[in-house]
Amino acid sequence: MSAKKVIVIGAGLGGLSAAISLKQSGYDVEIFEKNAQIGGKLNVLKERGYTFDLGPSILTLPHIFERLFEPSGKRMSDYFSIRSLRPHWRNFFEDGVTLDLYPEPDKMATEARKVGEPPENIERFLKYSADLYDLTNDGYFEQGLDNWQGFAKHYGLFKFFQFDLFRTMHQGVASHLQTQYFRDIFDFFIKYVGSSAYRAPAFMNAMPTIQFRYDLWYVDGGLYHIALGLQRLMEELGIKVNLNAEVSDVRREGKRVTGLVANGTFHAADIIVSNMEVIPAYEKLLNEDKAFIASLEKKLEPTCSGLVIELGLDCQYPQLAHHNFFFSGHQKEHFAKVFERYELPDDPTIYLVAASKTDPTVAPTGCDCLKILPHIPHIRDDHPLTREDYSKLKDRIIDKLERMGLKHLRKHVVFEHFWTPLDIRAQYNSNKGSIYGVVSDRWKNLAFKAPKQSTLYPNLFFVGGSVNPGGGMPMVVLCGQNVAKKIVAWDK
Ligand SMILES: Cc1cc2nc3c(=O)[nH]c(=O)nc-3n(C[C@H](O)[C@H](O)[C@H](O)COP(=O)(O)OP(=O)(O)OC[C@H]3O[C@@H](n4cnc5c(N)ncnc54)[C@H](O)[C@@H]3O)c2cc1C
Repeated sequence: MSAKKVIVIGAGLGGLSAAISLKQSGYDVEIFEKNAQIGGKLNVLKERGYTFDLGPSILTLPHIFERLFEPSGKRMSDYFSIRSLRPHWRNFFEDGVTLDLYPEPDKMATEARKVGEPPENIERFLKYSADLYDLTNDGYFEQGLDNWQGFAKHYGLFKFFQFDLFRTMHQGVASHLQTQYFRDIFDFFIKYVGSSAYRAPAFMNAMPTIQFRYDLWYVDGGLYHIALGLQRLMEELGIKVNLNAEVSDVRREGKRVTGLVANGTFHAADIIVSNMEVIPAYEKLLNEDKAFIASLEKKLEPTCSGLVIELGLDCQYPQLAHHNFFFSGHQKEHFAKVFERYELPDDPTIYLVAASKTDPTVAPTGCDCLKILPHIPHIRDDHPLTREDYSKLKDRIIDKLERMGLKHLRKHVVFEHFWTPLDIRAQYNSNKGSIYGVVSDRWKNLAFKAPKQSTLYPNLFFVGGSVNPGGGMPMVVLCGQNVAKKIVAWDK
């Protein structure tokens, strides 16, 4: 009997992971991707000797990526090389204080003492984080749980309450840490999923463990080498990838999807996996009715978007580490503006990556290449913003960086590029320009995203940041592996 045909819509990391895992499970797999290259948000810009990661720049949980190679008897290290970074992050505050994050307890204690945070507070917080991580990892991550019924069955009532259900992430942080510095730093781990620490449930405090226990990694030459490695693996496995092939329509017969249309041609499939986000896929590819879309929109609000700024400099700033955060003077207000009032922040917390600090191949000698990313609201019809509005924010950000120590930054820029939420939506078809998929919000969804299997068409599945367990590179790769397991079990 010939293998069943699976078509994957989109070659983001979630789609690639699903495609590889399904091929390894014996399916005949083909991918249709709208862009000219694979990787989705894992993207790269090379210009005038500078190489910028346009999307992700922090790799965590590499063991999840390793699982894409193991079933084929291969090793990830033969496809791309990774190295851990020290410090993990450098944190700059408006009053001139600078604090580094290290996974080594003695180094972390030295940093804590600089601002009067008792080191034992950090140790207690990290123990609390580790307990939450182990609990979340055991079911939600590894079993690919999708709903309350699955949670109740796997965890039972007693374990369920260990999720610290009645507090927000910030409340969990504030109950362990006493200085504003460390409260701001650990609140900002929510950056990994583009949500607000004041609205995310407390169990999101599992995130520091991802970094403190499993380390923080860089991919030599830039993170796009992950996509290049997966491309080689797919070639070896015989997975067909169609580029510049936007899917415009998914066809159905009754309660089954039968295939899709790309570039005007119909392609039949037994099973479809959509790496296009859930809401845009139902809306644009399946033309589902407005009431159904509205019911999804209630729960599956997009995460924040971002202003993604790349600067090639003619100099280096020695005070920068590889990863840097320039904190808002009023982080609570920053979160409220972006996630509750959906306004551009006056004083955002800014993430700045200078890969040139550890990788001499990404910038000309003696020069830094910077990617700067403040989180900003996703696109709102009730609050439309223009490229000029975003450009003004970019100026405020450069002002802030100059004020906080990057003296004469403007004068040293020899190359500049930036993307607004409008560009991000156009590039990846992401819902309202979201950069991590669905927001984690205690009141809207308790951090649950959409289920992997469609509730309307049993042979339609979803993968990526809008699906459990949500956004971030390792999570969408895990989602791809779990969706493959789900398909195999369902298809028996
Ligand atoms: C600026 C930025 C910084 C980030 N930083 C980090 C970080 O440091 N660490 C981290 O872990 N994560 C980070 N993330 C998040 C991470 O990049 C994402 O969570 C992850 O890459 C998303 O993968 P995905 O498979 O869900 O979706 P995507 O990467 O969006 O892939 C979806 C794919 O589907 C394609 N597609 C959509 N519609 C169609 C269609 N109709 N037909 C054909 N193809 C279609 C798109 O073109 C795209 O290639 C960052 C994201 C951004 C944007």
